[in-house]
Amino acid sequence: MTDAARHIDSYYARTAAPGSDHPALAGRQEAEICIVGGGLAGLSAALSLAERGRKVALLEARRVGWGASGRNGGFVSPGFSRGLESLINVIGLDRTRELFDLTRDAMRLVRARIDRYGMAGASPVDSGMLLGWWRDEPEEAKKYQAFMAEKFGVEYEYWPRERVRAVCITQRYYDGLFRDEGFHFHPLNYARGVSAALVAGGSRVFEASPVTDLALDGPVKRVRTAAGEIAADTVIVACGGYIGNLVPRLRRAIKPIATYAMATEPLGERLKTAIRGNHAIHDSRFDFDYYRPLPDTRILWGHGISVFGENLQGTAETLRRHMVAVYPQLADVKIETAWGGYMSYPTHKMPQLGQLQPGVWYAQGYGGHGMGTTALTGELLASAIAEGDRRYELLAPFGLNWTGGPVGTAYAQLVYWRYQFLDWLRG
Ligand SMILES: Cc1cc2nc3c(=O)[nH]c(=O)nc-3n(C[C@H](O)[C@H](O)[C@H](O)COP(=O)(O)OP(=O)(O)OC[C@H]3O[C@@H](n4cnc5c(N)ncnc54)[C@H](O)[C@@H]3O)c2cc1C
Repeated sequence: MTDAARHIDSYYARTAAPGSDHPALAGRQEAEICIVGGGLAGLSAALSLAERGRKVALLEARRVGWGASGRNGGFVSPGFSRGLESLINVIGLDRTRELFDLTRDAMRLVRARIDRYGMAGASPVDSGMLLGWWRDEPEEAKKYQAFMAEKFGVEYEYWPRERVRAVCITQRYYDGLFRDEGFHFHPLNYARGVSAALVAGGSRVFEASPVTDLALDGPVKRVRTAAGEIAADTVIVACGGYIGNLVPRLRRAIKPIATYAMATEPLGERLKTAIRGNHAIHDSRFDFDYYRPLPDTRILWGHGISVFGENLQGTAETLRRHMVAVYPQLADVKIETAWGGYMSYPTHKMPQLGQLQPGVWYAQGYGGHGMGTTALTGELLASAIAEGDRRYELLAPFGLNWTGGPVGTAYAQLVYWRYQFLDWLRG
């Protein structure tokens, strides 16, 4: 395996389950369906197709789960990057509810697959999610609770501050909203588990196989790497924020925006001086922290976005500062690894799913909310290809809008800074 095809250093890479390595493509092969990109968008589509009796060939430039899918916070929850209120403004309540319910199904599908395919390394923790309120605004928390219950049937428990502070040993949070729907897991081992399930079912997975050229016109499409070619009837492009210039039209429709995470050393009993319980936790700011205790008593902590790259100097220290701002009692804890990864952000913050031309599909644009939504688009794609199902058109209002190139990307950073400033102003 070349250096380019190794995982970046992260907690997940250090604890990757053994096995699930795949060969590079060599020579000419044929496939009914060829998928480009071995993140969870591509892998989930492949598994949904395999579960419908279709065999696929999947090409990954580096390793399965090398991109955002194998480096993220590991929160699996319903919903999209785009907030539900603003979604209602665009497509109305009924459509929003339909899409939201599909993300709930998708989240359950991910959880079920972990059991069905025996992916022990995915280490799911079914302890629900806690949203800690950063400001003393109990009415705001209750308003959100009522909105989610009335419009979407989501039952949040309202936690008064004493209860929140009994779980999160900090004065930073006031009230909280808890829901037992959702779980957290080891996303890289899940991605590797999906790839193993694919191969066990007779599909082909190739790693260290960057696609360099796509010939997509005509009934037989050709997907080429430096060392081989796959001729396929159907192609799915799912390269996330790492698409480069492979398909310029897809590249122009997303901004690659980085976010960052770190893992502490194992804390043993000391973990309980900060966090009691196994919930996935985030807070109510725009520029929020997201974190969770890991099964080995480390804390995995994520925060921030930036357009300046996934490998920023000082990432570990920046994240440590965010953790210590909430839990000053952890000031001397050692940070073992810190890393970043690119998400793919469309201007409308909704997944982009559709056909570029007959037989050529794409799935991208999950932003910071990809663990459930990649399973959703996988199902919609597979049922469209295998069964002619047109539910994927539910996402048609969210097309391949141009993001404005470098100007649009710079604008995204300015908007982020503005919201950071507003968070700061509001305390
Ligand atoms: C630090 C971080 C924290 C996050 N936290 C969460 C979270 O807690 N919950 C959540 O739901 N979401 C989270 N996200 C977002 C989530 O990880 C993404 O939305 C999701 O993984 C996107 O999946 P993808 O398959 O589209 O992209 P990726 O996982 O990035 O996969 C794209 C793949 O395509 C491959 N590729 C690119 N070009 C080629 C080519 N030419 N040939 C072959 N292969 C190619 C790449 O190598 C890559 O492996 C987080 C993201 C990051 C970075």
